[in-house]
Amino acid sequence: MAKNPADPIFEEEDAQIREAAARFEHASAEEILSWALEQFHPRMAISAAGGVDGMVIVDMAWRINPEVRVFTLDTGRLPPETYTLFEEVRDRYHIDVEFEFPDRTQVEELVNAKGPNLMYKSLENRLACCDIRKVLPLKRKLATLDAWVAGLRRDQWRTRKNVSKVELDKDHGGIVKINPVADWSSDDVWDYIRKNDVPYHQLFDEGYTSIGCAPCTRPVQPGESERAGRWWWEEQTDKECGIHCSVGLIGSASDAERALIDAKTVGDVVKPASDVAADEEVS
Ligand code: SF4
Repeated sequence: MAKNPADPIFEEEDAQIREAAARFEHASAEEILSWALEQFHPRMAISAAGGVDGMVIVDMAWRINPEVRVFTLDTGRLPPETYTLFEEVRDRYHIDVEFEFPDRTQVEELVNAKGPNLMYKSLENRLACCDIRKVLPLKRKLATLDAWVAGLRRDQWRTRKNVSKVELDKDHGGIVKINPVADWSSDDVWDYIRKNDVPYHQLFDEGYTSIGCAPCTRPVQPGESERAGRWWWEEQTDKECGIHCSVGLIGSASDAERALIDAKTVGDVVKPASDVAADEEVS
């Protein structure tokens, strides 16, 4: 049964997850997924947004248990190629991908007040859009689960360098978050995709290295980092949308803890993650 987000996080559970994180740090992605599926299925789902990392996990988990669940956040601003990919997932794996939608009234109010392309006008607008179209739908989905699986990798971006393979997601009611390919490189991911003929998003063949909403994602230039094409007009932000805010620390600090630590470490004005999330990934 899913936990109530308001439940206190017990130290014992925290210790168990830290022990699992240490135990699985050098385990293969298959070993971690086998353990997770045994522990949590069917109260666990893979978060997929169209990235190759997520598709590796879907393929790998399906080979272990064809009943594995997959969900995605349909923000209403996804590129058409994302829907093509999820049709391929349905055809190839016979997985009914679970689409989670934003609240219609909230989207209408936001767009009517600030315009359909509000994200380019200010960071505040962009975060409000991510909040309504991504963060809140994710919260609703995760409130029904005991564990979720994401394709975060440590070499993707500075906010992800300490991501743990198993962590307690304190920002989502203390459910378990599993990042089985945390220590994979981009080359590892593409080797798996090619070797196993895994379907992948068509935009990767057009210079994209990360997949998100159509207005906020573009191809990258040679030498740029993988997430440089996300919200490319923003220079000083974490390039996250609030759904993976706790990835900064092993063991998963909450958004508030992270903001405090960042503020102390950097000694600078750090936008509290609570603003930023409730202030990303599923992507
Ligand atoms: Fe809105 Fe862009 Fe965030 Fe998608 S990525 S929810 S379009 S701001």
